[in-house]
Amino acid sequence: MHEMSIAEGIIQVLEEQAKTQNYSRVKTVWLEIGPLAMIETEALSFCFEAVTRSTLAEGATLNIINTKGEAFCMQCLKNVPVTQRFDSCPECGSHQLQLTSGEEMRIKELEVE
Ligand SMILES: [Zn+2]
Repeated sequence: MHEMSIAEGIIQVLEEQAKTQNYSRVKTVWLEIGPLAMIETEALSFCFEAVTRSTLAEGATLNIINTKGEAFCMQCLKNVPVTQRFDSCPECGSHQLQLTSGEEMRIKELEVE
C-alpha cells in the first residue's frame, strides 16, 4: 500500500520541521492532494493514524483538501479542468492537453505547539 510510505514521508517532514521551527507537537495537518496524485484519501487517513503513534504527531487530525486538476489545451489555448490523467478537453475533445496542476501533494498548513 503506497499510502503507508506517503504517510511516513509526511511524518519525516513534520519531524524535520520540528527541529527548525521549534515545535514539539503537531495538532492538525492540512494536506492538499490533487485528483491525479493517485492517492486514496481514506487509506491515507488510516495510515497516518497508524504511523503517527508515538511520534510528535500522535493524535493529530489530518484534514485533506482535494485540489482541482487543470490542464492547458493546445487547441483552445486555455486552461481547462481535468479529473483524470488521460482526460480529453471538456470543451473541444482534444487530447493535446498538458497537465498544469493536479498531481501535487503538499502540506498546506500545520497547527503546532
Ligand atoms: Zn480544448
